Amino acid sequence: RARPSRGRRHLLLPGLHALNDRVGWISEGALAYLCRRLTVPPAEAYGVATFSPLFSVRPRPATVLRVCTDLVCTAAGASDLCTAVEERLGGGVHVERSPCLGLCERAPAALVTKAGDPVRTAVSAPATVEGAVLAASAPDSAPEEPPAETAVPQTGQDGLVLLSRVGAVDPSSLDDYRAHGGYTALRRAFALGPAGVAREVADSGPVGQGGAVFPTGRVWQAAASRPDHPPYLVCNAGESAPGAFRDRVLMEGDPFALVEAMTIAAYAIGAHRGFLCLRDEFPRATSRMRHAVEQARTRGLLGDDVLGRGYAFDIEIRRGAGAYVCGEETALFNSIEGHRGEPRCQPLSPAEQGLFGGPTAVHDVETLVGVLPALTLGAPAYTATATERSIRPQLFCVSGSVERPGVYELPSGATPAELLSAAGVRENLRAVLLGGATGGFVRPDELDVPFAFEGRAGSGVVMAFDDTVPLPRLLLRIAEFFRDESCGRCVPCRVGTVRQEEALRRIVERTGAAAADDIALLRDVGRAMRDASMCGLGQNAWNAVESAVDRLGVYG
Ligand code: SF4
Repeated sequence: RARPSRGRRHLLLPGLHALNDRVGWISEGALAYLCRRLTVPPAEAYGVATFSPLFSVRPRPATVLRVCTDLVCTAAGASDLCTAVEERLGGGVHVERSPCLGLCERAPAALVTKAGDPVRTAVSAPATVEGAVLAASAPDSAPEEPPAETAVPQTGQDGLVLLSRVGAVDPSSLDDYRAHGGYTALRRAFALGPAGVAREVADSGPVGQGGAVFPTGRVWQAAASRPDHPPYLVCNAGESAPGAFRDRVLMEGDPFALVEAMTIAAYAIGAHRGFLCLRDEFPRATSRMRHAVEQARTRGLLGDDVLGRGYAFDIEIRRGAGAYVCGEETALFNSIEGHRGEPRCQPLSPAEQGLFGGPTAVHDVETLVGVLPALTLGAPAYTATATERSIRPQLFCVSGSVERPGVYELPSGATPAELLSAAGVRENLRAVLLGGATGGFVRPDELDVPFAFEGRAGSGVVMAFDDTVPLPRLLLRIAEFFRDESCGRCVPCRVGTVRQEEALRRIVERTGAAAADDIALLRDVGRAMRDASMCGLGQNAWNAVESAVDRLGVYG
């Protein structure tokens, strides 16, 4: 259940980060000290520290090399890379097989973190044994990370709306952002007033892009209708679904747009405090957002008197700690409040009862940034651009067996075939995973069905796999991901994800052929998880495997 804000417990996660950053792990003494300062019971703080994969409560080397072994990186040879790097590096560097690092356009990807210097991380792109060893041995001399705009392939995409400024503006310059139309939408918002903004956005029709597809303006109207509690705004930028990296690209390439969009959303609901929750695996996005927030404060665009209109709003940046389930909104609230990031069992929507028990609007980056053109153009002009086929622009993250992996902006009525054609799909295409690990596989002859918001690619993740990729091994990796990420709170998911992985491992060890009883078991377990799990993680953990069995006949 939602808990009211009390004491300093909400500082627990930042405190754990500070300890972990210092020496690379959290000692018992350091944890006890933090608990005394924040008056948090040590057992509960230990529970939070051990729930979060990026923290360690055991000694480990100061330098950690994370090699992504998720779907696209595995298909690109990440497991062999990881083994070779472990042999070369010895014990001075902690090498970790990591879930998706959100660098799928550069697969295989790796990330280096050095304790005592958390800001400076190095990514080799794409990772090679030599590059990873060099980055881990001497992070300062590691190859420069490619700019964000390289994730937006130049394929003659005209009329970009969401990506229009990525690569065109200097992401460190507020003046440049303003020269490209920045802060026009906020000025219009102040002219409309809070209720007018919510109405305009509701009429324009932007909907949640994190998979929820709920109308953004209606969320604001609901959150603003509870004046008895202070409302909050939360930007869920913890994009950790395998294959998702559009929020990273937006934050790295157009950070001021997010600051402006958060200010507008907060104004509409009457919030004076916003939380921007970022993946810790996105060091460049984090530093650019920090810089943008500081610049906005300095120039009177955040703080006690935004734009001289007497409205107070500020943004607190929160680093995540690697738990995928914290993408679930109530789990994210728990994490911000200083509890384990487990989903809550609550009948009310976050707009009625969310963070610290107050009404809360929670949106991902793409949803918020999508509000800016809607407000700048106004509802009539914005909706006039929509046609039956092109409802509104949507971002797609394309990775895997394509020539130009990256983030593409297309009308939501486009088809996977059009998207993959723009990305340069290879001829020997075997399968396409729409919607990421929680989505479903389709065959190459099924790519002409348009994307729809309610459809199979709700998260905008599209992964292509050619016939060189061993699909049974890939399905096992999906099962490992869900087993790892299950928070363990409810039985169908906690036990089901383990049983699913065991069955798929048996199949892989039998050279990919499945016995009939394994398939029957997978179906039983899958149905139980879908019907009885508490949150979307467990409910969707069987989707990809089911589609591979039924549509691709992968074990046939
Ligand atoms: Fe936790 Fe899985 Fe249950 Fe969600 S479905 S609450 S992740 S155990």
